[in-house]
Amino acid sequence: MRWRISGGGWWLSAAAVSLAEQLDEAWPNRHGADGTVGDQAHRARRSDHNPKPGTGEVRALDVGVIRDQGPFLVAELVKSKDGRIKYITHNRTIWRNYEKNGNPPWLPLPYTGPNPHVTHVHVSFKDAQPAGRFAISLGSTDAGGQDMYRAVKHGDGFGRPGGDPAVIVWQDLLAALGEDLGTFGPNADGKDGKYGNTVKGIVARRTGTDGMMIGPVEGAKIIAAIHSANGNTAALESLIRQLETKVDGHVADVQSSTPHS
Ligand SMILES: [Zn+2]
Repeated sequence: MRWRISGGGWWLSAAAVSLAEQLDEAWPNRHGADGTVGDQAHRARRSDHNPKPGTGEVRALDVGVIRDQGPFLVAELVKSKDGRIKYITHNRTIWRNYEKNGNPPWLPLPYTGPNPHVTHVHVSFKDAQPAGRFAISLGSTDAGGQDMYRAVKHGDGFGRPGGDPAVIVWQDLLAALGEDLGTFGPNADGKDGKYGNTVKGIVARRTGTDGMMIGPVEGAKIIAAIHSANGNTAALESLIRQLETKVDGHVADVQSSTPHS
């Protein structure tokens, strides 16, 4: 591990160690400066990087980030609403896991501290939080280590908290086609990560199959439909690129046989 997790009289929060391990695993080639225990400048002021008097626990992690990694990591952590987190700061913004001045938890608010945190994401943890994986997806594998862009089938995501991220990937695309996914899910937009009868019905109609799964052929048809509907916004573009590599030549086949409007 590239992080310092203990030293003379201090030790890193177990929850912070877990997040550090997950980051190393998901982004092994990540560049940027990471940090745990505070330097002299930190010692002079109140900081979760300083060992807590009495216990020696360091309750903060600085994650060096480049390009879009910062906003991506923050979005995942905020979405997870992990109760072990106290607050997150990045790029002059703070997300607190508690109400302050009438602002609800997790609302992005201006951060005016001494360091704007442009090149790193600071994560502070509550005291003595346990180890354990965070429900975040950092790249093409989800928090359970499964490929997010794999084929999915009817029944996937049920019995799993938050559903299956691989199903949500396809629900995003079906929603982009204007399909009504219902009102399940945390945002009441039907994106609940569960491959139920609603998704099955849409996939059946869109692909001319029984709708029981989205594999390479069905996926290619859905992607082609988005292309021909000119529905690929910038946000969808990279998602579609990643899916296209998973469904190989099927996309090209389907696109060449689908008349574009
Ligand atoms: Zn920090």
